This record gives sequence, C-alpha cells and structure tokens, in this order.
Amino acid sequence: MRSYDVCECGAPLRLMERPTPKPAGTEVLLKVLAAGVCHSDLHIWDGYYEMGGGKRMNLLERGIKLPLTMGHENVGEVVALGSEAKGVKIGDRRLVHPWMGCGECAVCKRGEEQLCMKPRSLGVHSQGGYADHLMVPHPRYLFDIGDLPPERAAPLACSGVTTYGALKKIGPVLTEEPIVIIGAGGLGLMCLGLHKVMGGKGAIVVDIDPAKREAAMQAGAQAVVDGAAPDAAKQIRAMTNGGAWAAIDLVGASSTARLGIDGLIGKGGRLVIVGLFGGDITISTPMFPLRAMTVQGSYVGSLPEMAELLDLVRRKGLPAVPLATRPLADVNTVLNELRAGKVVGRVVLTPPILG
Ligand SMILES: [Zn+2]
Ligand SMILES: [Zn+2]
Repeated sequence: MRSYDVCECGAPLRLMERPTPKPAGTEVLLKVLAAGVCHSDLHIWDGYYEMGGGKRMNLLERGIKLPLTMGHENVGEVVALGSEAKGVKIGDRRLVHPWMGCGECAVCKRGEEQLCMKPRSLGVHSQGGYADHLMVPHPRYLFDIGDLPPERAAPLACSGVTTYGALKKIGPVLTEEPIVIIGAGGLGLMCLGLHKVMGGKGAIVVDIDPAKREAAMQAGAQAVVDGAAPDAAKQIRAMTNGGAWAAIDLVGASSTARLGIDGLIGKGGRLVIVGLFGGDITISTPMFPLRAMTVQGSYVGSLPEMAELLDLVRRKGLPAVPLATRPLADVNTVLNELRAGKVVGRVVLTPPILG
C-alpha cells in the first residue's frame, strides 16, 4: 500500500510504500474512497499546539509517533475482514469514526472513546486515510453512508461530528435564540449548516476574512460580523438584544475566546471552545458566579453522536458546505493552501491514483 506520511514535523509529506496489512480478529481493511483535509492536520503536521504566553505542547512528547499517515475524515470500501469482524461485508461503503480509545476503560465503555486517556484515533495516534488503504480495528467504528457520495460524507467524521457535539452542548436554547459562530472556515460552514438542520433559530457568524463572511451569508447566516472590527462584541450585543445566550468558538485564539465572552448575554451565557489555534485569556473568577457563565471545551464527538448525526443527515439531508475534490497526490499543496487561509469550505482528497 502507499500513503503520504509525516516523516519529519513541518516537512512535506513523503510518499511511502509498505506491505498492505491483512486484517485479523475484528479488524476491517478499507480501500480509501475519500479523505477530508482538516485544519487540525496542520497542528499535527507541525507537531505542537500553541498554549499561549509563548508555550507549546509538543505532540511527539504526548505519544504521537512518526512516520504518521494523517487523515481522519475518511470514507472507504471494505476490501478484507478479520474472522471476528461482524456486521460488514466486502464492497460496503462506510464512513469511519476516527476518534478511538482503548475500548476497555470506563470512559470508553460509556461511549466516550474520544475522551479516553489512551487514544488510538486514526490519522492522529494511528495510521489515517492519506493512503490507498486504511485499517480499522473494529466494525463498530464503521457507519453506513447509504447513497451519500463518499466525498460529501467524509467531512462528517471530523468537522461534522465536532460541530454537532458542540451544538448539542448548547441545549434547547439552540432552537429559541440566535447563536454566535466564530470562524467561517470548513468547520464554521459545517456548524452553520448543521445548526439549520437541527432547527436552530439563527446564527451570527464572525470571521476576519471577507470571502469567508460572504460564504457564511450564502450558507444562510442571519448576519456576519468582522471579527477584526474594534466594536465586534458591541455589534454582536446589538444584534442579540443585549448579548447572545451561546457562542461557539471554532478558532480558539485569545481574541476569539475574548470576543465570545464579551458578546455573551449578561447572565447565563455559554461559550463552547472547539478551535485549537492557540492562545490564552484571563477571566475574573467572580464573573463566573456573577454572570452564571459557562466556558466549556468540546473535543470532536462520541460514537453515539456519530450515529445520531448520520441519522439526522439521513432524515434532513447533508448541510450544504462548499467542497472541492483533489487527488491525493496534491496533499502537500492542499495543506499549504489551508495554512495560507485560501480554502473556502472543505477539500476532500479522492481515490488515490498514485501511478
Ligand atoms: Zn479534524
Ligand atoms: Zn478507554
């Protein structure tokens, strides 16, 4: 099999060849049909997260091993099965839930493998989908996509379930009050689309890039705000009758988290931070009780949430997110375009014709 691997942090991915693995036990081998390129790949590629104040979290020290095949938004076709892999057969097209834990601890047992302390996530801790083949340890991670095109279904594995998980944390307010979505990249437009599908009341979308604000308006945002405007928080408060009940920060920079808090309603508001851009903020502790404020993190999504998301998409249709397909061999170019902020919506790498 062939794959494009991170062999050295930040250096171009290298085309590698290794024997195609044979599935054993509960394992399932897929031929990759579509692999979405996610912003978090840039952090994994670099090998660190910016923690604010000049500090960095080194991912190689946190258990990520090179060479690594990234790619965690995958749809594939089953080509081989271990003897204990039940529920799928050769030729089935499946979306792969990549957020895998050990499968044995209490956290995994209650269905929250994404929060396991021994993560095995595909494309992060084990080999992902920037390849022609992908091994999945158990059929429970495979979801039927029905007649959805593979390239449209693939982004559900990360940008879909991540924004679904964040939107669910808002609770019933979602259908009663407009929310603020900060960031209108691939994640932001997916969040906006799912918010609609989930019966959301309306969304004010914030981005510093006019092209992305335009894309958000096209995708049905109630209003857009330039995040770089000095009065951005004031604009949000004016549009929401004094402040929003909930904001989702898909960027996760110091400035966006600050804006999220400042744009919230006086009392009882909630900020959900999803993005990993990096930074830090200071919040006066009395503000938590006095404003009855919640600041919450959300990391990808659980297996049950993936099942709910696919059920929702089957009933209500896929959110319309701008999407471009490119050959796998373009992976380095696509990652660089993403880093330069040139990608509107999602790029999905389609079947690897590696020559
Ligand atoms: Zn991702
Ligand atoms: Zn576990």
